[in-house]
Amino acid sequence: MINLEELNLKKTAGMWIGGREVLSKTGKTYELYDPATEGSIAEVTQGDSQDVDLAVSAATKAFETWSHLGPRDRAKKLFQFSALVRQHKEELSTLETLNTGKPIRDSQDEANGVADCLEYYAGAVQKYFGETIPVADQGLDFTLREPIGVCGLIVPWNYPMMIASWKFSPALAAGNTVIVKPASLTPLSALRLAKLALEAGIPEGVFNVVVGPGSTVGRALAQHPGVPKISFTGETQTGAEIMALGAPFIKRISLELGGKSPNIIFDDAQIDLCVESTVFSVFSNAGQDCCARSRAFVQRGIYDKFMEALLARTDRLRVDDPKSPTTEIGPLISMAQRKKVEEYIRLGVQEGAQVICGGGPPKNENLKKGSYLLPTILDKARPDMRVVREEIFGPVLCVIPFKDETEAISLANDSEYGLSGSVWTRDIGRALRVARSIRTGVLSINSGHSVHLEAPFGGFRKSGVGRELGLKALGLYTEVKNIFIAEK
Ligand code: NAD
Repeated sequence: MINLEELNLKKTAGMWIGGREVLSKTGKTYELYDPATEGSIAEVTQGDSQDVDLAVSAATKAFETWSHLGPRDRAKKLFQFSALVRQHKEELSTLETLNTGKPIRDSQDEANGVADCLEYYAGAVQKYFGETIPVADQGLDFTLREPIGVCGLIVPWNYPMMIASWKFSPALAAGNTVIVKPASLTPLSALRLAKLALEAGIPEGVFNVVVGPGSTVGRALAQHPGVPKISFTGETQTGAEIMALGAPFIKRISLELGGKSPNIIFDDAQIDLCVESTVFSVFSNAGQDCCARSRAFVQRGIYDKFMEALLARTDRLRVDDPKSPTTEIGPLISMAQRKKVEEYIRLGVQEGAQVICGGGPPKNENLKKGSYLLPTILDKARPDMRVVREEIFGPVLCVIPFKDETEAISLANDSEYGLSGSVWTRDIGRALRVARSIRTGVLSINSGHSVHLEAPFGGFRKSGVGRELGLKALGLYTEVKNIFIAEK
């Protein structure tokens, strides 16, 4: 179990601006709660637009030196940052679990993910070249990749440190300076990371964190003329607002948004593997996952067998205290989020779906206090239902049978989103045909894994703009400059 005494959560946590921990100009603070107990865990300073101004000044000043450091020197500091993250893995994962309610083993994996991400981009940026181009004019034409400047990185509450690292690692490696804006509910890991960045030798002002609501701090970043780049992960509606706020400045904007991803199971699927993956691809992180495969389409020939195995596996999921190492599913982020998800379950029932497991909080006495919700399966769902069309962001799976390949593709594509998805079949030809026809940015065949550090990740349609991770992400944080030198 976690040793809470070792965490220094007694004093008010400040923001990190210009290499110093500072309190907000207004002096306002707010409290953070443990979703597993509803008990207060920390008090945090609450910033507003004045603090964003200070952070932009610090980051602009730091850009002058950081952007002129060579890639190898920047990489050395990022490797050191990564090493410190590994050294502080227990502390970071404990903070994340306390703050989000996610199972401790998931937080540990995510802390490792942050360190891996830093290492990947520290290595990658040293091999990130421009091109020489054979133009018609006589001379030499070549491109440079230059950093953009101060990057505003706006992050959600579901994977706070990991998603932040997907943004700050390539941004810093490419020579930008950053202002991280964590979700108000979950700032603790970002604040700890800012301190580790300094300890790693990353100069003051390069890595800033401003804490506060999206409606003030987030908006101030999105419409600040000194922040030419915004990278945002969160709800589709918020992404649209950020695009509009940045439009007058022609900001470089990349967006990772919502999803309602399909899981297509053909009757020749390897059922044991598929059931195991189906359960975790929708219920892990208590379903608060943009890639959650929350729509399962199951071919009629395998439907009964699949549902029986799915119910049995879901029933065995260990929903428990997230601080315990054996817990698979912890509470949702807050009581408000649980209420929202419960309302969706009620709506699904009104629409004619049938709850075949879960549907409410667990009965266990020790879980009475937190915002727990049992993994829920809605059978007899139809494509026109709101529970099938809208992102619920909780542990709710809708299951719909289908007849053949054509119908499966049409059902899967019947969504305004297009983030992720899986296809389960042993027929390789069919797998490829279906994969090509599905309108999503990432897809896995016979696997629930579609997010890989080394490969591009992002969405079609209302699921986003741009691709994070892999080498593609360095393109999000650089401008291309073309230079021509005449031969005479
Ligand atoms: P959210 O949009 O409410 O908030 C995300 C961040 O934006 C927070 O830091 C918030 O404070 C800030 N924000 C809110 N309003 C803002 C505004 N007007 N201007 C600027 N910033 C603002 O999202 P959330 O509830 O924290 O996260 C859940 C959502 O994120 C889900 O829709 C989920 O699908 C999506 N998500 C997507 C991905 C992906 O990679 N595609 C990953 C994780 C989460």
